[in-house]
Amino acid sequence: MAVPQRRISKTRKRLRRSHFKLEVTGLVPCKHCGAMIRSHRVCPSCGYYDGKEVLHVSKNEK
Ligand SMILES: [Zn+2]
Repeated sequence: MAVPQRRISKTRKRLRRSHFKLEVTGLVPCKHCGAMIRSHRVCPSCGYYDGKEVLHVSKNEK
């Protein structure tokens, strides 16, 4: 798209850029507590991974 800048209208430029966005990938709900977590990681809110508790998260928060 090597076109002189002035040939692209503000609308066309903005329409094209409307698709430029960051996407959060690999986010899955935790099997144990349902919080959105990154897959293949221990859940930071309940400390479970693959149905087993691997981390002891303090329960006195929230
Ligand atoms: Zn969890």
